[in-house]
Amino acid sequence: MTHHPVLIVGGGTAGITVAAQLRRADRSLGVAIIEPSDKHYYQPAWTLVGAGTFDMKATIKNEADFIPKGVAWIKDRVASITAADNKVVLASGEEVSYDFLVVAPGIQIDWHKVKGLPEALGKGGVCSNYGHDKAEYTWECARNLKEGDRVFFTQPNTPIKCGGAPQKAMWLTSDHIRRSGLQGKVHVEMMSPGTMLFGVPVFRKELEKVQARYGAKWSHYTNLVEIRGDQNEAVFDLIDKETGEVTGQRVEKYDMIHVVPPQSAPDFIKESDVSNADGWVDVDHNTLQHNRFSNVFSLGDAAGTPNAKTGAAVRKQAPVLVANMMRVMKESKVTDDKRYDGYTSCPLTTGYGEMLLAEFDYDNNPAPSIPINTAKPRYSMWILKKYILPVMYWKGMLRGRA
Ligand SMILES: Cc1cc2nc3c(=O)[nH]c(=O)nc-3n(C[C@H](O)[C@H](O)[C@H](O)COP(=O)(O)OP(=O)(O)OC[C@H]3O[C@@H](n4cnc5c(N)ncnc54)[C@H](O)[C@@H]3O)c2cc1C
Repeated sequence: MTHHPVLIVGGGTAGITVAAQLRRADRSLGVAIIEPSDKHYYQPAWTLVGAGTFDMKATIKNEADFIPKGVAWIKDRVASITAADNKVVLASGEEVSYDFLVVAPGIQIDWHKVKGLPEALGKGGVCSNYGHDKAEYTWECARNLKEGDRVFFTQPNTPIKCGGAPQKAMWLTSDHIRRSGLQGKVHVEMMSPGTMLFGVPVFRKELEKVQARYGAKWSHYTNLVEIRGDQNEAVFDLIDKETGEVTGQRVEKYDMIHVVPPQSAPDFIKESDVSNADGWVDVDHNTLQHNRFSNVFSLGDAAGTPNAKTGAAVRKQAPVLVANMMRVMKESKVTDDKRYDGYTSCPLTTGYGEMLLAEFDYDNNPAPSIPINTAKPRYSMWILKKYILPVMYWKGMLRGRA
């Protein structure tokens, strides 16, 4: 069994950011990251790839270039965690023990939970921005739309990473349809199990105007359960508003359907002693320290914090986690002054050349970080999304600069 003072599970947005910040805070700290992938992905740009306005290649870089200097990289997958014994077991069977553990393996994409989806995906108009090998096909589908076509966008009834991503895909495709002179001649509809367009009223108001502008339809209380790829049919459960029970089904013929897949905590987390009843890592919502194991912390999409799951949330969580973990190392207690308030941000691309930046906290209170009204779609925010945020990510956040 090998041992590391700090062991990080997952070298994605959260794992690399925390490793870099830890090393900046204390060069002598022994840190190791367990990450199976050779590549690191900038997922927020996949929405733009799906709209034909960003190169997928620019969203993929070598993981090796982002493992901070002095941090060990264990290139394997974690098969199980036993926090009660301070150890993890790798897929290879090797055991690794730790003094402190950071759990950041992201969210699991459950394509198989929609019947027929894995087989249908990537052809016949069935597309999704949720994958580095998938988003380019969304643009191919949009580019080939013609008069009379029927286009659907879906949202699952589970937590997802980037809650705004389903509608971002819809607005950008709608704008492409408008620019192609097809608005009103192509049916565009969102199928969502949710009750409203967006949870925070100030942003919802603006998004309703965007919806009206494109003439797009929005069906609430619907949930995609099956794709019949050979017949170009999608099957949706209809959900009762009051009871949440399934009351029937609706079958729709599609020419293009953008699917946001069901998602959940990774299976190995669900099965471990660090999970809560819903499978996520059971951490305090403000300190990010585990509720039962004081030497375990978590952030990012796998953490059991009730914020919208985004990279922007990770940017705010990482310094809180690092400060609290280092305090626990020295004084066995977390700090009082570093607390995560649920901040998240959702850059909602409402068309080509315009974006609305929704920033809010656990209580759905707006939490603006820029001194202009970002609730209105703006060109400047589009520039931020397309040109500035990717640079801030690769050169700032992943290097441990807040
Ligand atoms: C289409 C799309 C659009 C998005 N748009 C935005 C946006 O505009 N703004 C925004 O802020 N966020 C956006 N996001 C969300 C953002 O990318 C995630 O919230 C963020 O990457 C979460 O970081 P993470 O480290 O928790 O997970 P990830 O970055 O996904 O990293 C998890 C890492 O853990 C590794 N891992 C998995 N299982 C194991 C295992 N068993 N053992 C070891 N390692 C493992 C994976 O290989 C991966 O490298 C978007 C995401 C998508 C898909």
